Amino acid sequence: MSDCLFCRIIDKKLPAQLVQEDKEWVAFKDINPQAPTHVLIVPRRHIPALSASTDADGALLGQLQRAAAILAEKLGLSSFRVVVNNGAGAGQTVEHIHYHLLGGRGLKWPPG
Ligand code: 5GP
Ligand code: ZN
Repeated sequence: MSDCLFCRIIDKKLPAQLVQEDKEWVAFKDINPQAPTHVLIVPRRHIPALSASTDADGALLGQLQRAAAILAEKLGLSSFRVVVNNGAGAGQTVEHIHYHLLGGRGLKWPPG
């Protein structure tokens, strides 16, 4: 989608600090990191939110979670958190599903 920020990053029309690219997803550093390591894992396919996913997206969602584990190992994180914000009330600001991978500091529970 040409008016979607993350689609534009995936299409290399906007710059980002890439961490890894896969056939199905792209991982890049968050522009406003909330932890020493804060990576966004974004599927190439535009899905607006987790709540907009369907059963047909199940394999892709699994790949995004595997991506978090792969990247955590690559980045040397033994402890980390994976977050999906769904809806404005939960802090979603970009309407293209993405998994936040956070680590490199102690992470409190429950999150704010
Ligand atoms: P959300 O708030 O939707 O869960 O997460 C969106 C994330 O995208 C935020 O953490 C925000 O800092 C990040 N972000 C917003 N614009 C950009 C951008 O242009 N480049 C990068 N790398 N991250 C962005
Ligand atoms: Zn998009």
